[in-house]
Amino acid sequence: MPFSKLGLSPKLLEGVKAMGYVDPTPIQLRAIPLIVEGRDVIGSAQTGTGKTAAFALPILSKLDSHQPQTRLLILEPTRELAAQVETAIRDFARFTDLKVAVVFGGVGYGKQNEALKSGVDIIVATPGRLLDHIEQGNCKLDHLQHLVLDEADRMLDMGFLPDVRRILDRCPRKRQTSLFSATIPPAIETLITWAMHNPETIEIGARRSPAETVKHVIYPVADVQKTDLLEALLKEIKYESVIIFCRTKHGADRVANTLKRGNHAVAVLHSNRTQSEREQALQGFRDGRFEVLVATDIAARGLDIADVSHVINYDVPLHPEDYIHRIGRTGRAESSGDAFTLMVAEDAQPVASIERFIGKKIERVKMEKFDYRYTALFEADKPGAPQGFPGKATAVRVHGGYHFAPAGRRKRR
Ligand code: AMP
Repeated sequence: MPFSKLGLSPKLLEGVKAMGYVDPTPIQLRAIPLIVEGRDVIGSAQTGTGKTAAFALPILSKLDSHQPQTRLLILEPTRELAAQVETAIRDFARFTDLKVAVVFGGVGYGKQNEALKSGVDIIVATPGRLLDHIEQGNCKLDHLQHLVLDEADRMLDMGFLPDVRRILDRCPRKRQTSLFSATIPPAIETLITWAMHNPETIEIGARRSPAETVKHVIYPVADVQKTDLLEALLKEIKYESVIIFCRTKHGADRVANTLKRGNHAVAVLHSNRTQSEREQALQGFRDGRFEVLVATDIAARGLDIADVSHVINYDVPLHPEDYIHRIGRTGRAESSGDAFTLMVAEDAQPVASIERFIGKKIERVKMEKFDYRYTALFEADKPGAPQGFPGKATAVRVHGGYHFAPAGRRKRR
């Protein structure tokens, strides 16, 4: 079905055309008519499915033209997502006179105050800074008609739900609410019951398996050799752009500094960096000025960074959905091993949950010519290893034929 049959206004259809979209994605096909009809919608869809257009196009169609009161509020968990969604809204609405403001923390209030006071139809915001503006009287939500809670599970993870509730208290009860979340934990369930009216759930794009085109493997390694192996991998693979995921901000900084010393062009993305540092990192990575982006999940969640040649999980993600999400950034069919995960002994549990989640065992590999130290993980992956080891079913494949003996002794096979 084409976009023209989904009930969108002519100005928004023009916007869609200018964006170069030809066919609606599955979530757009399901969500757009429901939102046009006035229904509350819960979408369990991830980034890359086209969910921004799925909620933005029908709502912008209904807003139609500029009025001085704010009628649409979109809440986002991170500044980057807020900025990205604001850009998308401006693009979709380019043939309308609708006005949009974006507000998030980490930057001054001046420009945001000006934008809000000029009277905007749409606010895209992170919860904390929006509350500040409300409390300072810079914006009012009394005339709100549409509320979008994007990446609700991330807002929960980041401790924003109390702020979200405070904001909801300021919104009229009669409104249309859409909520997007990859998972629906009990706290989100409660929020849904409290904030939504007879919602329709759409479960498109909640992938549990990585794309077929992504080759992904695990490199078991002793903890002390993680950074050495990372550097050796970067040397060996022919990458154009690589994202390295770390679990903590501190870890991301440490890895980035090591790689910088090795003369890699590296950008870092995590929530302790200033807004302008984060913007420069993203822009530089997109432009190709940085070949490596070291990021934490929270900073990278939902960002539209696709088409990277390689993803390396320096740390195993703790949530299985994050594994799918991380490795989904790459998908080049022709390269061998698009996504690498470094696994140390204490990662046995999270790796087992990832494998349960995707319903498949991930192949273990070793790098040729790397002087491995012994780790019990190598034993775990041999046939006949003790019960309970995630790697029990297959042996480790060794590129180039090294055999790994205890205590760092190495001999040819
Ligand atoms: P999102 O899931 O909203 O972050 O969108 C992911 C990417 O898909 C963005 O770059 C969008 O511009 C793009 N996109 C969304 N809808 C369509 C569509 N119908 N056709 C082509 N590209 C799209």
